Amino acid sequence: MADKRDYYEVLGVDKSATAEEIKKAYRKKAIEYHPDKNPGDKAAEEKFKEAAEAYDVLSDPQKRARYDQFGHAGMSGQGGFSSGGFSMEDIFSQFGDIFGSAFGGGFGGFSGFGGSRSSARRTTRGSDIRIKVKLSLAEVVKGVEKTVKINKMVTCPDCQGRGAASEADIKTCDHCHGTGVVTKIANTILGQMQTTSPCPYCGGEGKKITNPCRKCSGTGLVKNAEEITFKIPAGVQEGMQLTIQGKGNAARNGGVPGNLLVVIEEEAPKEGGLQRDGNDLVYTLNLSIPDAILGCSVEIPYIDSKLKIKIDPGTQPGKILKLRGKGIPEVNGYGTGDYLIYVQVYVPKRLDRKEKEIVEGWRNSSSFTPKS
Ligand SMILES: [Zn+2]
Ligand SMILES: [Zn+2]
Repeated sequence: MADKRDYYEVLGVDKSATAEEIKKAYRKKAIEYHPDKNPGDKAAEEKFKEAAEAYDVLSDPQKRARYDQFGHAGMSGQGGFSSGGFSMEDIFSQFGDIFGSAFGGGFGGFSGFGGSRSSARRTTRGSDIRIKVKLSLAEVVKGVEKTVKINKMVTCPDCQGRGAASEADIKTCDHCHGTGVVTKIANTILGQMQTTSPCPYCGGEGKKITNPCRKCSGTGLVKNAEEITFKIPAGVQEGMQLTIQGKGNAARNGGVPGNLLVVIEEEAPKEGGLQRDGNDLVYTLNLSIPDAILGCSVEIPYIDSKLKIKIDPGTQPGKILKLRGKGIPEVNGYGTGDYLIYVQVYVPKRLDRKEKEIVEGWRNSSSFTPKS
């Protein structure tokens, strides 16, 4: 560490270089000395690390100011490299910022390294929980707030998710020296390729627990029943899935919790009752012959009440009455369906003698004779 080169010299920039110039210079060095381009070349790797370290300091205004004032002496205890250099993982974690999307994909040589590295990131994510919720038609039309009790993994209250009985029981993994990744050199038709994968000894965490927490057996998580309340918007449909962010299983070591996925089911409609057709409500109204002829006022079912509608005299079977805007709202909030009433006229199959006589009397009346 004593014979460290000047960071500006490492990147080949002026002391007055702008942030953009520093970034540019580092990008050049990183490509030049990248391990994928120089497999097995120790000197290149050293240069690569040196450049990364220089960039880490000079790209951070605070660190740069300290360095400008105190030189390397001012940097001890700063960042992750004071105790024996930057890890490869740290370096590659910078790449997203530096190279951005313009770089991704185009540079084939990086894909093996960068790609596998991202899977070895230590940010863990809890798994998703999927539940089904059954809704009545009224709940679909109006939207509803539901509270469900879910058995899920939560952060262990005894160890706060660390998995260790105490802070002192967490040790750096000997196998990967805390980086969480292992690097392999493989011979391929393209030459030697360096690949990294999560360390199998610590599962990519870089740490080992020597004395696990008793409550969670070292997993950092315990099962717990939790009540979760969420809103379901009006207009949802069978099979739709809502995502409730962050309400799934907790992750180890304070990682990102998973999501709660709510799959919508609709209650089967009642026989002869209100039905759903897309965003329309549909009802079949059976009128008696006299009601169809003379007109009437009838009650029809509506979401969780009744509606009174007027039937005009001479209403024909097959007529569709439309109550505009009385259907189901579009789930995205734009527009509402209608309530359609299909009119049928009930024709009795059997009449008693007296009824027969009455209807017999209609036969020859001119109003009952169909007009072409
Ligand atoms: Zn390890
Ligand atoms: Zn625990």
